Formats: sequence, structure tokens, C-alpha cells
Amino acid sequence: MSIAFASRQPAPAWLDALRAALPEESLREVGELSDSEAATVDIAIVADPDPAQLARLTSIKWIHSVWAGVERLVPLARERALPLVRLHDPELARTMAEAVLAWTYYLQRDMRAYAANQRAAVWQPRPYRVPSETTVTLVGLGELGSAAAARLLDAGFRVRGWSRTQKHIPGVECYVGLSVLGTSIAKADIVVLLVPLTPETKGLFNTSTFAAMKRGASLINFARGAVIARDALFDALNSGQLQHAVLDVFEQEPLPADDPFWRHPAVTVLPHISAPTNRRTAAKIVAENIRRYRADAGLPEFVDLERGY
Ligand code: NAP
Repeated sequence: MSIAFASRQPAPAWLDALRAALPEESLREVGELSDSEAATVDIAIVADPDPAQLARLTSIKWIHSVWAGVERLVPLARERALPLVRLHDPELARTMAEAVLAWTYYLQRDMRAYAANQRAAVWQPRPYRVPSETTVTLVGLGELGSAAAARLLDAGFRVRGWSRTQKHIPGVECYVGLSVLGTSIAKADIVVLLVPLTPETKGLFNTSTFAAMKRGASLINFARGAVIARDALFDALNSGQLQHAVLDVFEQEPLPADDPFWRHPAVTVLPHISAPTNRRTAAKIVAENIRRYRADAGLPEFVDLERGY
């Protein structure tokens, strides 16, 4: 029994962190293993792996992702009927909540407009809108969305949230299901996407969703690129229906140098950095999950492969 680590990118820092947290285990990068060694691996720890790497691990009993978003792993886990565990880390939720607050402030305090004004040497104060008159809708109220809601409430914003099942979060107006997505975003000055990418959420933000938003509102996408229908977003930005979009995630990453998002005046491009996994805290959580499994064969909470998250 041994553990293999798989990632598309070379990840020596991950191996170091995981080995430090699991000194009792034999933990090697999948590429270093011979076929016979690969066949003895019973647990795969993965950070955005190539499916071909996992195909070499013919005897794994389960997969532990050190990412929270697992849409690329779901079909593979379903095909092999393997339990898939995603990262649940309060530090990740804290980091994402911080990013949501930071980029909400960026929009609420018109920082993009002041940066443009400085480049043009324009001295022009803009109207100030207090947080208590600024509505933010969180599309997705899971681990990350609910942490963001708490942070925004604490900063005095009006907060609404949308999810698949009913939530009760004091101070947050909670909406459930597709039929009220439009209502949940209609009064928002800022809409923040924090849903997983699933067949139901692919293209969730499309021409009719953008039309349901208040004219001149802004969008923050910290979820996955494909949650937005790209052409509809360009149309909404070009027509002024949307004032600005902060985009951290894209269907193709890295975003190609000739992609029009880079140069669109109403778009802020970020390189998928809103909530990087903290290797130290994540490795500790992975290690605890694996020790519990070694002790009593009990698996941590795993992803619902039918639901897709
Ligand atoms: P989570 O705990 O699984 O929460 C997902 C939320 O989305 C839940 O509230 C869920 O509703 C809702 N949802 C899912 N499908 C829905 C649907 N069809 N209709 C309505 N609501 C739906 O996930 P999380 O940990 O908060 O993470 C969310 C996503 O953030 C990840 O999947 C990943 O894609 C992204 N992420 C991005 C970064 C980054 O750096 N940009 C970092 C980490 C994660 P219920 O609560 O009712 O189930």
C-alpha cells in the first residue's frame, strides 16, 4: 500500500508538504513509479492531474483532491466508481472570503475608474456609495460562498445568496433554485459567482441571466470560466448592461495572449488566484483523512458524483 501524487504541473512543493505531514507513508510522484509500483498504490492525492496519470494507478481505492473544484475529476471517478474526496479547508474559505471582499471593494470604491483617470491625468471625484446601500448577491452559498457572505455582512454590505437547497444565514436573503435566480440578482450591484461547474451550472450566466441583472451592475467570477456564456458576457459589457467584470477563471487557462478579455476596458483579468490552496493547512487535512482511513478504512465525506459537486 502506498500513495501517489499526480499533477499536470511539476509540484515539488506539494510533495514536500505532503511528505512532511505524512512521514509514515511512502508517497511518490506518479511519474517516478514503474508500472508494477503504480499497481500497488491504493490512494491518489491529486492537484489538477492529467487523466493519463490516474489511468496508471490501477488499484486505487479513492482519490483525494487538494483542490475544491473537481469538475474534471468527476467523470473519471464516475467511470471507475471511485470515491472522490475534495478539499474542505477553512483556510481556503477564509482566503476566498478575503478575495470576495477585496474585489467587492475594488468595484464599490471605483478603483478601476480612478486607475484609468490617473493614466489620463484626470482629477475627477466620483459619487461614493456606502456598503449599506450596495447589494451583493452570492451565486453559490457553499463553503466558500457562506464564508464570503459572513465577511461581506461584517463589512456592512447588503447580502443575498442563491443555492440549490434552502439556507438559513442570519442577515442574508436566501433564494433557492433556478426559478428565482433572476429575482436573487435583480437588485444586486455586484454578483459574485461561487458555484461549482456542473451540467446545471454550465452557461448559467447567459443572455437572459445578464438581462435579469440591474443595468450597470458588475460581475465577479471566482467559480469556473464555463459558468458564463462568453459571447453573452461580451454583449452585456459592450452594451453597458454590465459595467465591469472581474474574471479569475477561464475556459482555457492560462488565458491565451490574444484573448480579447485581456484588453477589454470593462474587464479585470486575474490568473486564477482568488483562493490558492494553502499547502501547509491542506496537507495537514489530507494527512488526517488518510490516517483515519488507515485506522478504520473510513472514508472522509466524498463528492456526490451524480450531482457533480
Ligand atoms: P460547495 O461547498 O460545494 O458549494 C457550492 C454551492 O453552489 C452550494 O451552495 C450549492 O448549493 C450551489 N450550487 C451547486 N449547484 C447548484 C445549482 N445547480 N443550482 C443552485 N445552486 C447550486 O463548493 P465551494 O467549496 O463553495 O466552492 C465553489 C466553487 O468555487 C468550486 O467548485 C470551484 O469551482 C470554485 N473555486 C475557485 C477557486 C479560485 O481560486 N478561483 C478556489 C476554490 C474553489 P447547495 O448548498 O444547495 O448544495
